[in-house]
Amino acid sequence: METKPVQFKNLSREESYGYDRKTLDYIRNAAAHGLYEIRGMGAKRKLPNFDDLVFLGASMSRYPLEGYREKCLTKTVLGTRFAKKPVELDIPITIAGMSFGALSANVKEALGLAATEMGTSTTTGDGGMTPEERRSSKILVYQCLPSRYGFNPDDVRKADAIEVVIGQGAKPGGGGMLLGQKVNPRVAKMRTLPEGVDQRSACRHPDWTGPDDLAIKIQELREITDWEKPIYVKVGATRTFNDVKLAVHAGADVVVVDGMQGGTAATQTCFIEHIGIPTLAAVRQAVNALEDLDMKGKVQLIVSGGIRTGADVAKALAMGADAVAIGQGVLVALGCNGETYYQNGAHHDAIADYNALGTTPGFCHHCHTGKCPVGVTTQDATLEQRLTPAVGAKHLKNYLKTLNMELTTIARACGKQNVHHLEPEDLVALTIEAAAMAGVPLAGTNWIPGQGF
Ligand code: SF4
Repeated sequence: METKPVQFKNLSREESYGYDRKTLDYIRNAAAHGLYEIRGMGAKRKLPNFDDLVFLGASMSRYPLEGYREKCLTKTVLGTRFAKKPVELDIPITIAGMSFGALSANVKEALGLAATEMGTSTTTGDGGMTPEERRSSKILVYQCLPSRYGFNPDDVRKADAIEVVIGQGAKPGGGGMLLGQKVNPRVAKMRTLPEGVDQRSACRHPDWTGPDDLAIKIQELREITDWEKPIYVKVGATRTFNDVKLAVHAGADVVVVDGMQGGTAATQTCFIEHIGIPTLAAVRQAVNALEDLDMKGKVQLIVSGGIRTGADVAKALAMGADAVAIGQGVLVALGCNGETYYQNGAHHDAIADYNALGTTPGFCHHCHTGKCPVGVTTQDATLEQRLTPAVGAKHLKNYLKTLNMELTTIARACGKQNVHHLEPEDLVALTIEAAAMAGVPLAGTNWIPGQGF
């Protein structure tokens, strides 16, 4: 008797792990166009992050502070090494560098208004400083980027601190992009480049080839600013231990380490998803480097890349950061990926505009198109009106306030009167990977993978 053929019904519907639908789409797109994808925002892949750590709140062996009666200080001072006028912040949460060009002028102004109300700093980006950004920001950090677009000594003197950008977490080793549709007359004028033409920002500074040249550049900036302003050096997280040491040797007052969860307005997806190391891994390396040089507390550390909540801020501080910088979270607070925008006293549906971009709220990463449905990352005169400075500032202030309240709540629960007293001993990890990266014990054990052998 002949055997009836077996039907492998489930197997015939099984998606390949290596060639899943996403990969098939990628290959088909590459085959059709011969181009790589460019997009905005940060890494979408799952990475070890601050969610993999938890705090050991006070219990029998520690004494918690009463939330509504006992103070928990948040004052943060950056740039104490050489600058005559260090930056003094009310909270350890700052706004990361984002360019006028990537963001609308309204948004840049909103960032300044909210940061000023919360007693913190905001940061310029590629393309220079807008007058309204300077007016609205009590404390403004001015970036010196490889492109030098819009960079000039007059604005250096107007700033409260200078940030020399060596790299960004979303694209270490790569430059930025601003596609032609976002290069309107004002953006073009500030960058002294033609309107409507794609702009590529350089991946390395024109006047140096290594750390010795960085030391010369820092010296120049100090002389231009009469040694008043702190000089920050920002690196994308890769070989963080060595990079932080080199930045300190070059004379940085503050080192900014941006992990691979950091966002961008536009770059190649292969950069965003495949270059750099997670923020969690970078913080420990940065702190180790400062401790190795006996510079912990003398050179301050700002951590950025995927900081979203007050718990994230608290964990970064506990690991040894002096402050954090936030980019994508700020954009979300302003309305990014929201279903509606608020204009002329009413909420309006933005879903059709997302659909026109081929996406939907919650999935958008289309900042590079200049067609932001909620008016955040656009230079289009009509779309820009979807977010006014006052409305943006109100929401951002609320977000920053919430983060700070969560931060102090956690610090009090750990028995700290100052958020800067949080320490690695307050943390444990939920996964072996996070324990190894963060250098804290796996929960319920004394084991820190990679140490103690
Ligand atoms: S909603 Fe706007 S800011 Fe947010 S990802 Fe889309 S284009 Fe970018």
